[in-house]
Amino acid sequence: MAIVVQKFGGTSVADAEKIRRAAERVIKAVKNGYQVIVVASARGKQTDKLIADALELNPDPPKREMDQLLSTGEQQTVSLFAMALDALGCDAISFTGSQIRMITDNAYTKARIKSIDAERIHKQLDKGRIVLVAGFQGVDEDGNITTLGRGGSDTTAVALAAALGAEECEIFTDVDGIHAADPRICKGAVKLDQISYDEILEMASLGAGVMHPRAVEFGKKYDVKIHVRSSSREKHGTIITHEVPQMEDIVVSGATIQKDLAKIDLVGVDNKPGNAAKIFASLASAKVVVSDIVQTEVGPEKANVSFIIGISDLSVAKQAVERIKAELNCNTIFVRDDIAEVSVVGVGMRTHYGVAEKMFGALAEANINIDSITTSEIRISCVVDKKQADKALQAVSAAFELDKLPERRAKKD
Ligand code: ASP
Ligand code: MG
Repeated sequence: MAIVVQKFGGTSVADAEKIRRAAERVIKAVKNGYQVIVVASARGKQTDKLIADALELNPDPPKREMDQLLSTGEQQTVSLFAMALDALGCDAISFTGSQIRMITDNAYTKARIKSIDAERIHKQLDKGRIVLVAGFQGVDEDGNITTLGRGGSDTTAVALAAALGAEECEIFTDVDGIHAADPRICKGAVKLDQISYDEILEMASLGAGVMHPRAVEFGKKYDVKIHVRSSSREKHGTIITHEVPQMEDIVVSGATIQKDLAKIDLVGVDNKPGNAAKIFASLASAKVVVSDIVQTEVGPEKANVSFIIGISDLSVAKQAVERIKAELNCNTIFVRDDIAEVSVVGVGMRTHYGVAEKMFGALAEANINIDSITTSEIRISCVVDKKQADKALQAVSAAFELDKLPERRAKKD
């Protein structure tokens, strides 16, 4: 029998009525002949509430105890879900991560999965049961409960789908699927029928926030077909899958905007071996995650180095570079905390020309100045003024016709 994993996020199981509706969704899959594994998140804002409870007692709670506490949110959901299924006449059994031996490393609050006891689940499925697994958690080799990081239930679901050879991993959520641009900013942005793992990974790290990036990485590695779809409607959502040749015809699959960024420019650093290493060593020791690094030589003596960070890291990052400013013989440190980054993503960029021109042209026409530009093989990003962020996303989305289905867009060579 084919297996399907169905993951329900916090909003889809927020109250009794929603759990019942989710249960009906599960029953439908059973009726369609599937063995079903359900992965659920903590209900509604339960994880946030538990974090607040912890912080009330201790501003810096031990990470082990934090995981012990947070894992209970998901445990509640799956047992309630099993009760709902039982009331609807189904044979269902719930498990915590530790009960199905979802073994992780011992990095509390951000553990990585090492192995899963698939046999145990197969046995239950073969008894005709629906198996419910608490998302977001595992257990280390010594029996300590661990969690996979915020949003980690997606990863549990995809990992189970991989371990059990499921036909599909359905991610039920409160949106219809993945849109080409944030529909709250770009009204009419189309829902994508499918997108590649690489594109969604670029979009996720650029703030599209639809799926936990680690879950997508897992899916890519183990070839899991992921279907992001609405928990309240039947419609087809978005399939995340391997790149297929037709995807290359779509030049730009999506556009994103990120507003929680800051940029630091080190102007006039001595142009000599080791200086770039010093800058990023200082940032790394301050645990600052850096992106979009650009270094350019300005004459034989000096170079400019710039990079982007999350705005919440700005003060630590500033201190980290100030500390080594003299050592680098740096003229000025220039900081911008009023930026946003607009990006377009598409595997078709590898084979089509004119994408950069179109993007920059759209921004120019909207009278938006570009502070800096960075690219990857399948992405172009422009830093713009934060005040113009929404306008920039709208201009770019319009230029690439993201309000139309790909087959209806003007043809490119
Ligand atoms: N409940 C956890 C969180 O809110 C995990 C999840 O929902 O995926 O981050
Ligand atoms: Mg989520």
